[in-house]
Amino acid sequence: MSIKRPRGTNDILPEESLKWQFVEKIAQDIFKRYNYQEIRTPIFEKTNLFQRGIGETTDIVEKEMYTFNDKGGRSITLRPEGTASVVRSFLEHKIYGQAQPTKYFYFGPMFRYERPQSGRYRQFHQLGAEVLGTDNPAIDAEVITLGLQILTELGLSDLEVHLNSVGCPECREEYREALVEHFSPDLEELCSDCQSRYERNPLRILDCKNEKCQEYTVDAPEIYDSLCEECTEHFEMVKNYLDKLEIDYILDPDLVRGLDYYTKTAFEIIYTGLGAQDTIFGGGRYDGLAEEIGGREIPGIGFAMGMERIILALEEQDIELPLTTDLDLFITTIGQPAKEAAFKYLYQLREAGLRVEMDYLGRSVKGQMKCADRNNAQYSIIIGGDELNKRVATIREMETGEQIEIELDNLVNEIKERVE
Ligand SMILES: [Zn+2]
Ligand SMILES: [Zn+2]
Repeated sequence: MSIKRPRGTNDILPEESLKWQFVEKIAQDIFKRYNYQEIRTPIFEKTNLFQRGIGETTDIVEKEMYTFNDKGGRSITLRPEGTASVVRSFLEHKIYGQAQPTKYFYFGPMFRYERPQSGRYRQFHQLGAEVLGTDNPAIDAEVITLGLQILTELGLSDLEVHLNSVGCPECREEYREALVEHFSPDLEELCSDCQSRYERNPLRILDCKNEKCQEYTVDAPEIYDSLCEECTEHFEMVKNYLDKLEIDYILDPDLVRGLDYYTKTAFEIIYTGLGAQDTIFGGGRYDGLAEEIGGREIPGIGFAMGMERIILALEEQDIELPLTTDLDLFITTIGQPAKEAAFKYLYQLREAGLRVEMDYLGRSVKGQMKCADRNNAQYSIIIGGDELNKRVATIREMETGEQIEIELDNLVNEIKERVE
């Protein structure tokens, strides 16, 4: 039996790949308008970067990482997300010594050992943004706006912005105590994961997908009552900036990022079209992360969005993308001398920026014409011995059937003029 691709991976075939290129192009264009520069970090990193940068108690680090020892005995992990690498790179290259803020964007594959399901893969792809070097709330609003703009310029609707503040370590300690007090009478009723979360990080109980646990989170205290003055003010400013842009958002106190170095703003954009609510992208502020991975204190905020989810949503909403692989010209040949001459014309035409093709399988003239059709060629031309001798041939506009006689030696210009 032939070898199949590993479970949870996907081949992005050319027809699909065109959609990806389109999404990436729109995103790149918007990133440029917002003055974000691309960063490309390694696909694998030292394992402890993610242990410290994502958090040892998270599902990602506990259960989902592709971790292995390389031949030198070093523990290596395929990156499960992009932020830790970006912050590591920022510190390693001392970018903090330059004028701030630093605005990055990235595209690429990420790896998590999860149960594969529709639109969810073990190798999946994210596009994301990170802004380092400022804790100004205007940047929080900018990052949310930027992500939203990518989705809306792609033509997506049915999007909800969910917004929350998770506070800073000080106000979160107060909140943690309130939660401990709230959950302690019913601790036995919670799932085993949540019982250990209760000890380590009760905020993450709010995130549990277990229905029983959710019963007990409904009337849990909200973080807003525990926010300190600085965090309250920051949150008010973020909302104020979003209000100025008339961006609708839903305050969502269950939106938690339960690690100490996640601070203040947390947000998600939810696509409500796919039947079940589906998070297309999420992000937030992480003012404590750089320190956590051994650097100095650098404020940061970012988001990551799932390419597979975006593509699914585009398909679901029947959004026509302006994709084309149509040819400008297909050259049909009769006989070997014509084939050799055509091979040279192909080269010249391609050099001139045109999309052209010929037959390589020795098809009949009829078979070659079919190829021209299949490739949606705008023009076709037949070259045989006669045409070569007279240096004249007929080009045919495929859609109208209109035929024009041209000088073969002027082929490049004749086609170029017509397809402009
Ligand atoms: Zn605070
Ligand atoms: Zn639970």
